[in-house]
This record gives sequence, C-alpha cells and structure tokens, in this order.
Amino acid sequence: MAGLTLNAVHKRYGETVVLDGVDLQLIDGEYLVLVGPSGCGKSTLLRAIAGLVEVSGGTIKIGDRDVTDVSPRDRDVAMVFQSYALYPHMTVRQNIAFPLRIAGISAAEQDRQVGGVAEQLDLVELLDRLPSELSGGQRQRVAMGRAIVRRPSVFLFDEPLSNLDAGLRTRMRVELKRLHQRLKTTVVHVTHDQVEALTLADRIMVLNGGVVQQIGTPRALFETPTNLFVATFIGSPSMNTFQDPKDTNRTIGVRPTDITVGVGDVQATVEVIESMGATALIHCKWLNDSIAVSVEEPHDLAIGDTISLRFDVTHCFDTATGARQS
Ligand code: ADP
Repeated sequence: MAGLTLNAVHKRYGETVVLDGVDLQLIDGEYLVLVGPSGCGKSTLLRAIAGLVEVSGGTIKIGDRDVTDVSPRDRDVAMVFQSYALYPHMTVRQNIAFPLRIAGISAAEQDRQVGGVAEQLDLVELLDRLPSELSGGQRQRVAMGRAIVRRPSVFLFDEPLSNLDAGLRTRMRVELKRLHQRLKTTVVHVTHDQVEALTLADRIMVLNGGVVQQIGTPRALFETPTNLFVATFIGSPSMNTFQDPKDTNRTIGVRPTDITVGVGDVQATVEVIESMGATALIHCKWLNDSIAVSVEEPHDLAIGDTISLRFDVTHCFDTATGARQS
C-alpha cells in the first residue's frame, strides 16, 4: 500500500490542453473521488496515473517511487473499468486468477488467493461459472476480484458502477465502501454520480477544463465551495444563483435546502412543483429570477401561490471571477 502524489501533471494533445498542472497528494489508504463535467479530463488523469497515457509534463509518484516513466504493468496499480472486460471463455476462477497466472504464481498459491478474494466478494458459489452465466452485479464483482487479487498499491476505478441498474448500483456502492474499509488501499474513483462521490469519498477533487477547482471533504465542498463552479456542480438539487440587486459584481448562492417557506421578505410565485417522494422541489419566480426550494412532503403549496421565503444560508461570489467572497 502507498500514497499517491501528482506534481504539476500536464497533458496536451497537439494544441489542446487536457490537464493543466494537476497537483494532488493522497495519503496511504485515502479514497479520492474525481468529478467534473464530461470532457474535463477525468479519464485522462486516471489513465495517466495508470501509465496508459503519457503525460506531457509533471511527475507521478506512488509511495516514494517516481513512476512517471514506468510502464503500466510495473506501476503496481489495478484499474476497474465501466465495461467489465472479463474473458468470456474463462470461468470466474480463471478470470480472477489471470493476473496471478501471468505473474507466474504457483497453481496452489493461485487457488489460495482466489479462494480468499472469492470469499471477500461473496463469489465462492460462482467460481466455476462463465461470465455469460452471471448478472451485471456479479460480473462487476469478478472484475473487482481480479483487481484485488493483485494486491496493488493503488486502485483506479473508472465509473465502475455506471452500467448497473439503480438498485444494484446502491448495493455495490455499499459493497465498495465495505471493501475499502477492509482493504484500506488508496483509491482514485472517477464518477459523474453525485451520491457516489459524496458517500464514498474521503475527499473529492473537482476538475473543470483540466484545472483542479477544489479538493476537499464532501462536507467542505458542500458547505464552503471555493467558487461558483464547485457551488453549482456539487449538490443535488443544484444551488440557486442570482445577481445581488445591491451589488452587480456579486452573485448570491443559496441551496434549495437552505430556504424556509412561510417567513421572510422574499415574495415569490410558485410555478412548478416536482414531487420527489419524501421531499418536493418548488420552482418559484422572484423578480427576474427562478428559485428552487426544497420542502418536505406533504405540503399544501399550489401553482400560482405567492409565498414568503427566507434564505437561511447564503454564499457570495465575485461575479467576474466566480471566486468565493465569504
Ligand atoms: P472526461 O473523462 O472528463 O469525460 P477525457 O479525459 O475523456 O474527459 O477527455 C478530456 C479531453 O481530452 C476531451 O476534450 C477529449 O476530447 C480529449 N481527448 C481525450 N483523449 C484524446 C486523444 N487521444 N486525442 C485527442 N484528444 C483527446
């Protein structure tokens, strides 16, 4: 096991800058989730750590070892992709054992290690099946097993749960958390799923246009986003933003969950009501702005109602630069 250090990592394809000086320091066993809009460089960064993409500048260290110029197979990392890429003609046992076989480990030792991993992942009953005889979730567990059996220093997960249906995804998320608590191996996990990011991460890194926007605990990113981009990217439903009527250089942000209905000076008109089960999202019109407010169900609001709102927590940003002011 080992930590991971990125120092000014750059990646260019011709004139296009994809990673623009990424710095990161993970301590041994830390779980980092990497988020950002499509095309921001998440996969490129993960592949650079794996050695599948050659960086244009900067250094990558695993533990104390500079691996910037080390080949992927000698980096001591294991990657799990969204598509499980199991060998279809091999059984679960053979799939999990594959990295050990390639490494020339004895058959007896392969059996022992595969047995241990199968137990951890609840795959013992399935060891003699082919991938075609497994559900999506089981296949994903086999892919995970094949990564674990190598006992890498760092796991790299590229949207590992995104092919699963909603229920299974939730279960696998909990499984992943349990697994990490047991293995305590450093993880870098790319996802576009907010819940995955907020629940799994020790820290989250938000990337935009190849530039790190903020690295911090889920709570820090949610409560004190460093700029407008992070403020509106992290959190679902998204933070409301509008110009401060008293200061055009200032943008005010307020989360739908930080607004109280029935008190306060803001008079707004209900336009759309989205019921979400335990809560509802009320979309209101206030002057020229649209504001979403989260309320608990059941509520007695109706379209066309005029309601008073109080903003309980507000965030202030510089309109020009997006930087947080308070
Ligand atoms: P993400 O994973 O955040 O969606 P990627 O890392 O896949 O983003 O891609 C980041 C940017 O790099 C995109 O604009 C993409 O088009 C570009 N890119 C990725 N791979 C290549 C490549 N091999 N050649 C040229 N451009 C690439």
